[in-house]
Amino acid sequence: MEKDMERILISEEQIKEKVKELAAELSKEYKGKNPLLVGVLKGALPFMADLIKEMDIYLEIDFMDVSSYGNETVSSGEVKILKDLDTNVEGRHVLFVEDIIDTGGTLAYLKDMFKYRKAASVKIVTILDKPTGRKLDIQADWVGFEVPHEFVVGYGLDYIENYRNLPFIGILKPEIYQ
Ligand code: 5GP
Ligand code: MG
Ligand code: MG
Repeated sequence: MEKDMERILISEEQIKEKVKELAAELSKEYKGKNPLLVGVLKGALPFMADLIKEMDIYLEIDFMDVSSYGNETVSSGEVKILKDLDTNVEGRHVLFVEDIIDTGGTLAYLKDMFKYRKAASVKIVTILDKPTGRKLDIQADWVGFEVPHEFVVGYGLDYIENYRNLPFIGILKPEIYQ
């Protein structure tokens, strides 16, 4: 798969180091709060797995699967829930774990929904942030790396369901899209 890459943006080593940093900050923040970490499928899977192994506190995990209504030209922030949580979030400290925030549509919707469900707190950690893509006023509370306004793959992020298993993050060669 590496031959399909135009360039590597973030190496496996850089990711590992950053995940450790984030895990240390999150452990401090959530110690004694038994947080519920909610991974948004499928992209957050590698980050979630690496992050929780570095967090030395009591915590729980759960997953949601969502899809955007319509297409990327629709910026209503409306999402369809394909798989909901198995956990009641009332009174819980919820931490969303994401692969990337682009328009912000997905997380703006989920954050509102979880406030409505009476979570004690709702925060976001994302390994990648693409601030130039933002259409809704939403920020992550913890960000791994900012990426430029380009389509990235690897470490959970796909191009038509491939490349999620790359241990690094990069940009595909233009001919791959043809
Ligand atoms: P948002 O709702 O913030 O626009 O969208 C977030 C979702 O769009 C991400 O979880 C991811 O699935 C997808 N996405 C946004 N930017 C990229 C990108 O550069 N590469 C890939 N592979 N997916 C992206
Ligand atoms: Mg995602
Ligand atoms: Mg995708």
